[in-house]
Amino acid sequence: MRLPVCVFDVESDMLCPSCQEKLDKGEITQFDVDFCKWLLERQKQFPAIGDLSLLRALRVADRLVLIVKKKGRDLLLSEKELMDEMGKAFGRVLIIEGPLSLRSVVKELIHPAVELGVNSLFLPDRTRENIVVLRSEDKSRIPYSLEELRLIASAAVGESVLFQYQEETKKTEEKPSDVFEERMKSFTQKQPKR
Ligand SMILES: [Zn+2]
Repeated sequence: MRLPVCVFDVESDMLCPSCQEKLDKGEITQFDVDFCKWLLERQKQFPAIGDLSLLRALRVADRLVLIVKKKGRDLLLSEKELMDEMGKAFGRVLIIEGPLSLRSVVKELIHPAVELGVNSLFLPDRTRENIVVLRSEDKSRIPYSLEELRLIASAAVGESVLFQYQEETKKTEEKPSDVFEERMKSFTQKQPKR
């Protein structure tokens, strides 16, 4: 199994200097380490996961998000019993296949919907902020709230990723005329009664 930390480190409960550095820099978190331990302990029972390449394990918005290399998803999903156990221990499981580009993460999260566009801007501190614009008519097809999308995508990519629906700003502007229309409707509906 390939993990975000060395297998030896996990087994010996001690991080080597290079893994410790990854942890200190925030490239991985303690959860990666804990989850790797949990997963390694299951390899005896589920030997097929020995072929898995896990890039990251994240705990976001009550979900377990696993970033795996190609074919990792099918490999995990074919181990039904393991997936059940994982769901019970960590919450709903979302598996994203790397390599970890913003595009692949967004695609995975909003599938089968497609984003309208992505705007990226560099902040003065040279970090990048991304805004993913979604079609408002896709709202019912996307299983995550905007806040969940932000948390999962930002954690997966390691950059700030915001999501917004295209029509949202328009709708508030349209309110006055909607109210007007409604009034007109009730007015015209009342007419025949008189
Ligand atoms: Zn290590």
